[in-house]
Amino acid sequence: MIERSKLPNQQTTIFTVMSKMAADHGALNLSQGFPNFPSDPVLLEAVAKAMRDGYNQYAPMQGDLGLRERIVEKTQSLYGKRYDVASEVTVTAGATQAIFTAIAATICQRDEVIIFTPAYDCYEPAIRLFGGISKPIQLCPPLFRPDWDEVAKSITTKTKMIIFNTPHNPSGMLFTEEDMLQLQILVVKHDLLVISDEVYEHIVFDGATHQSAASYEELAKHSFITASFGKTFHNTGWKMGYCLAPKPLMKEFQKVHQYNVFCVNHPVQKGLASYLENPNHYLGLSAFYEEKRDYFLESIKHSRFKYHPSKGTYFQLLDYSEITSEGDVAFAERLTKHFKLATIPTSVFNKNQEDFKLLRICFAKTNETLEQAATILKSI
Ligand code: PMP
Ligand code: GLN
Repeated sequence: MIERSKLPNQQTTIFTVMSKMAADHGALNLSQGFPNFPSDPVLLEAVAKAMRDGYNQYAPMQGDLGLRERIVEKTQSLYGKRYDVASEVTVTAGATQAIFTAIAATICQRDEVIIFTPAYDCYEPAIRLFGGISKPIQLCPPLFRPDWDEVAKSITTKTKMIIFNTPHNPSGMLFTEEDMLQLQILVVKHDLLVISDEVYEHIVFDGATHQSAASYEELAKHSFITASFGKTFHNTGWKMGYCLAPKPLMKEFQKVHQYNVFCVNHPVQKGLASYLENPNHYLGLSAFYEEKRDYFLESIKHSRFKYHPSKGTYFQLLDYSEITSEGDVAFAERLTKHFKLATIPTSVFNKNQEDFKLLRICFAKTNETLEQAATILKSI
């Protein structure tokens, strides 16, 4: 029997909680981040063809060669760095497995890991499972900008890694070139590891450029870059992603990966490899989601919710402080059960669950769904 939990007090993830609550109460689900429109039929057919062509057994441990080649080419063309196909890329079961594996491969007892909160919820439990200690740095509304002096002061002799995420879930904040340069100075000075969680790399708005760790030569030498095809190609349920890292880091990563999953879904890898041959399949994504953001914000402009337009990701924060002083978890529950609209309360991602009265909605939805959500929000 289990005498001592490895993760005492760990709650069920908010995404499961809110999606279940939405289903139980027949609410419109804008909580968990996933599109409610289909993937491109061209991609679906490419995967189906791979199955018919017999790619139904194990893929190579690192990932299908063709897919790794396409990933390397895409990274070079967008960020100017060429990773080695043979030794610096691994295809993973979503970014979650890439992040978990990078942490498992590097974090030891009492290692400190700096994370920026609100933080995506898979970082902290993984750090804890391997004996590490997360050191959250709180980003504050409305802009959620990092303070690099604070980061510098948080680094101790025990600091092993910094995890950051740009475009940032849930705030929609983007790291700037200046942020990346500041980060690079600290990482090099203290010889730290980095996980750069770039799952929303193709969703940036208002003409901004995604800042990848791959574009910064010294930073890249210390970084595991994690990415997700689910976000980019509207199929979060396929759980496909990848990790890029310099050879010595990737060697350690693969020591764990080979016994964690060994390899991931072969026909989907084949399908993605052929689909990635056309860069237009991902280069239009920012414009596509910017239109959705604008459509949604225009529809709720006469509501009592306040907002700063998201700069990237497919999430928008809504400030409800003019409506009620209720805590965000209670308000999100009431919204779901009474108003039939499910959102994510963001305090669960914060240091000490600080409550800024902000709900997160996912606008990766059809305009019809966004219209329905706006009607509800305007009625509150
Ligand atoms: N990081 C962030 C910031 C995310 O929002 C998500 C999930 N959407 C992930 C990682 C995990 O991605 P995946 O679904 O590919 O595991
Ligand atoms: N990344 C998605 C979000 O932020 C959810 C992923 C999950 O359900 N674990 O909503």
